[in-house]
Amino acid sequence: MPICIECSYPVSHLYSTYSRADDRSLGKGVRLTQCPRCQRFADKYVEYDFVVIFIDLVLIKPQAWRRQRPIRCMSIILHSLSSLVYCLLKIEILQLTKLFVR
Ligand SMILES: [Zn+2]
Repeated sequence: MPICIECSYPVSHLYSTYSRADDRSLGKGVRLTQCPRCQRFADKYVEYDFVVIFIDLVLIKPQAWRRQRPIRCMSIILHSLSSLVYCLLKIEILQLTKLFVR
């Protein structure tokens, strides 16, 4: 059973869908569940882009780490770190190439 990321209270579902729910790219069709205990959204990150989630994970916000999908969070971190390493290596290769071209 999913939990509220704000207070860890069990909720039946994190969001509900309605018409045109398959078109999540428009941000339509999803209604976030309000936690019965703290009255906040049970998981506000449902509508967030993974970059925002990653930033909140790096900032060690407990709500981001309390999500139901820790494996997904870890895969986001690993993907982001590997992309960063790739970019840094590419920049380094470009700089080395410029040195040898002169
Ligand atoms: Zn709550």
